[in-house]
Amino acid sequence: MSQQAQSGSYLGCGPTCPYHGTKQICFYCQTCSHVACHACVMYRHRGHVIKDLIVICQQIGQDLSDVLQNCHISSETSDEPMDVRNSGMKH
Ligand SMILES: [Zn+2]
Ligand SMILES: [Zn+2]
Repeated sequence: MSQQAQSGSYLGCGPTCPYHGTKQICFYCQTCSHVACHACVMYRHRGHVIKDLIVICQQIGQDLSDVLQNCHISSETSDEPMDVRNSGMKH
């Protein structure tokens, strides 16, 4: 059995973030019920309840692809104005 190092076992085969094309989705925001990449977690989901996507998969006993698909579908059906591109939000 070749157990890969802690991080990176599923890197390279996972989907990428629709917001940050080069970042791979490996987190799940419980606050938004949405998947997220590292950049999303740092910015869009800052302060939210973030879980490892792989942990979520194990908890609900689904494949990573299934979870992603479900999240993607549910996020598409609810077209809430998530486009709050920090309008006038300068520090
Ligand atoms: Zn992202
Ligand atoms: Zn969030």
